Amino acid sequence: MIAQPKASHFVNGDWMEDSAGALIEVINPATGDVIARLHEATPAVLDAALASAQAAQSDWAARKPVERGRILRRAADMIRDQGESLARLETLDTGKPLQETLVADWPSGADALEYFGGLVPTVTGETIPLGGDFAYTLREPLGVCVGIGAWNYPSQIACWKSAPALAMGNAMVFKPSEITPLGALQLAEIFIEAGLPAGLFNVVQGRAAVGARLVTDPRVAKVSLTGSVPTGRKVYAAAADGVRHVTMELGGKSPLIIFEDADMESAVGAAMMANFYSAGQICSNGTRVFVQKGIKAAFLERLAARTQKIVLGDPMKMETQMGPLVSAAQVDKVMGYVNGAVAQGARLICGGAQTGMFVEPTVFADVTDTMLLAQEEVFGPVMAVLDFDTEEEVVSRSNSTDFGLAAGVFTADLSRAHRVIGALQAGTCWINTYNLTPVEMPFGGVKMSGVGRENGKAALDYYSQIKSVYVGMGPVDAPY
Ligand code: NDP
Repeated sequence: MIAQPKASHFVNGDWMEDSAGALIEVINPATGDVIARLHEATPAVLDAALASAQAAQSDWAARKPVERGRILRRAADMIRDQGESLARLETLDTGKPLQETLVADWPSGADALEYFGGLVPTVTGETIPLGGDFAYTLREPLGVCVGIGAWNYPSQIACWKSAPALAMGNAMVFKPSEITPLGALQLAEIFIEAGLPAGLFNVVQGRAAVGARLVTDPRVAKVSLTGSVPTGRKVYAAAADGVRHVTMELGGKSPLIIFEDADMESAVGAAMMANFYSAGQICSNGTRVFVQKGIKAAFLERLAARTQKIVLGDPMKMETQMGPLVSAAQVDKVMGYVNGAVAQGARLICGGAQTGMFVEPTVFADVTDTMLLAQEEVFGPVMAVLDFDTEEEVVSRSNSTDFGLAAGVFTADLSRAHRVIGALQAGTCWINTYNLTPVEMPFGGVKMSGVGRENGKAALDYYSQIKSVYVGMGPVDAPY
């Protein structure tokens, strides 16, 4: 199947091509077929994108928030109307099964557009009484924002970044991962059809060097990145040179803590969702599953039974529950962790094998804190089960990592649930569930997992800045 877009880039309201840019072959991971050929953005394409964003932004910011919101909500409706074809494209691009892309990827992007479109007219400043004088504050947009996306949720990421940015009156230049470049182009076209003025949302393709060039352009006021911690450090440092605003959504090694009194079926189901959805390629996954010793054997038995029933295969078939990994490089990386875990003495409970681009859902037990599997982000369908005795011990071990993206706890004891969550160093937490990320709830990490928040009311703060205005009501009392 071919999914060749009309051109590589979308700039100033239209498709744009510059075949001087290096070739990007887009591969359907399920078949290995090349489904599109694109070119990296040349300096001329980047300049056109940034110039059009800059030119369009101030008129957009001057519009009533309710008008901006209406356009975003129209785009959300169009995404829902085209839900099936968009989901098919996402599946071709990422290899994720259609049963996921139909309900998770674009639908959550549409939710973001609807939510921020509705929320932005409610954004107000404050008035501050100062005796006879007073001050007031305005929330102003930042200007031109750059979004840089990862390959795991390419269309959702494009929506999660553009929705709050555009709602607040900013313009955006978005660079998808070169591994999954197709969805963002669709979004750009939908925005134009929904009535978004040209130049406000541009998509440019390219590898890391293209992203790096965007981050340091003097026209750019803010950079929002979703990706790994090493990339985050580089992008954050580059953005700091121009004192730019940043949002960093980075990796994790999140704990999912299961106490003996937890509902067993729910805990097993959540642990599977936290490790196998999107073939494990999710930043907030609960990849360190701490199980209290008294239920360890029963937990592993149910987990193995349910995991072995996961249907791997052609992601375009509705019955398929897990597709291939996104790229051959990712398969190699994940299998390196699988083989390393065996070598380090972890006990393989099920899975562990690879066929081409497909890696079986894999569970390791008896994982210890010092094994690489417990320390590094694998980004594949590999669950590490660790065991623990006491609450104090598990909290301390959960926190002994540089990451701090997410955490979950399963227990029937509500006081304990809140106490444990209170002690965990993580930005996004769940009690008796895992990995639900509704747009209404802020999402993001602490420690090395990130800076800033996406979603929720909080996201608008990260796409705006406060202007304070002091109003003098009397004569100026100068000491000169
Ligand atoms: P990266 O973090 O390397 O890339 C994320 C995005 O940043 C991509 O669009 C990438 O471009 C771009 N980029 C890379 N370097 C720079 C730079 N110096 N300046 C500006 N932009 C840059 O993720 P990868 O896709 O390479 O995946 C590597 C690993 O990262 C995965 O195996 C996984 O462990 C982790 N990861 C974590 C994610 C998360 O959400 N936590 C998401 C995705 C990956 P391009 O890809 O086109 O080179």
